[in-house]
Amino acid sequence: MFEPLYVAKALLPDLDDLQPYLQQIWKTGTVSNNGPLHQTLERSLEEYLGVPCAMLFNNGTVALLVALKLMNLAQQSEVITTPLTFAATPHAISWNGLKPVFADIDPTTLTLDPASVEKAISPKTSAILAVHVYGSVCDVDGLQRVADRHGLRLIYDAAHVFGSTVNGLPIGAFGDASVFSFHATKLFNTMEGGAITSRNQADRDAIYYLRNFGIKNEEEVVEIGINGKMNEVQCAIGLLNLKMVVAERSVRAHLRRSYNEMLKGLPGIRTPYAQPGVLNSEQYYHLIVDPTEFGRTRDDLYVELKLKNVFARKYFHPICTDFGPYKGWPVHTTRETPYVEEVKSRVLCLPFHNGVLPQHVEEMSAVFWRETGRHLHPGDSLAHLERG
Ligand SMILES: *Cc1c(COP(=O)(O)O)cnc(C)c1O
Repeated sequence: MFEPLYVAKALLPDLDDLQPYLQQIWKTGTVSNNGPLHQTLERSLEEYLGVPCAMLFNNGTVALLVALKLMNLAQQSEVITTPLTFAATPHAISWNGLKPVFADIDPTTLTLDPASVEKAISPKTSAILAVHVYGSVCDVDGLQRVADRHGLRLIYDAAHVFGSTVNGLPIGAFGDASVFSFHATKLFNTMEGGAITSRNQADRDAIYYLRNFGIKNEEEVVEIGINGKMNEVQCAIGLLNLKMVVAERSVRAHLRRSYNEMLKGLPGIRTPYAQPGVLNSEQYYHLIVDPTEFGRTRDDLYVELKLKNVFARKYFHPICTDFGPYKGWPVHTTRETPYVEEVKSRVLCLPFHNGVLPQHVEEMSAVFWRETGRHLHPGDSLAHLERG
């Protein structure tokens, strides 16, 4: 049996390439507070993400906190979000003294359904915090129409869609602001880190103050800010990792094709929907198990894969409305019952990174196909995964 295979693996630069950066940091003694590497990384990210304003943060959660703060929403007002996300999304709303309100997801993209969002709007609603999940992009036009119709701010949690585009437009340029996470599990990582992007250059100063205690100069504090700064060592790792993202994305795109091939024709398994016009970030590979058709449940698959040392993840199970603090909160939907309740017990993310090799895919294939006695043999379709 091979070594444990996890769902994510941190992309790391060559240590030899990091050394000159470390020497420079040690030589200058500038280790944080908007240092030279920090500024270079921000400019590089603006270029890479195609946005006029990208501001670095020490993690995605603090970036979410600040993005919400930036909107100046009325205290105790309601922010509509999805239950199918990481805990940080509703927590950032709550930490701002706001109330998360959960709407249902679209069955095809698994992102917020604009019709359900509209149904969840009350006189207290001030904003929508939508999440592009797994690599699926939200209905950006539909959500913007709802926001405009009701005078709401629209923020995106873009932790899963680094570098995605929609009909050629960069993902970070939609809504009033987008938030990225550069945590180790994300396609582009600085070990811990994040960013806010905006299409509005004018947000730069406001975000800058919110990120650094509101300090304008030695004499003036102009805002109730927080400490959201990224340090220079992380920026060095970011600059090096940014050069590796394209290659990693293409490895994952090949892996996506192998997985699609592996699962083709298997009844009861739905592979990820290829959204027209969307350049996929290749953050996650998620599948949906229909237990009646497939004959086994998502949890069966999870356990069977684990026995083979393949650690798939049930992202995002439990959903946010299953967590203690939000338990029993209603999910507003246009259906009889919220679709998200069905998906949470059916979704599974497979290991998705450059460490997934043909032998792994073969082992997984055997688990998926075991009832039918058929399974994929390493042939042409896997040849591209062979690396020297
Ligand atoms: C990773 C993640 C975050 C926040 O991440 P940090 O670990 O704080 O950088 C927020 N939302 C989603 C959907 C995520 O996957």
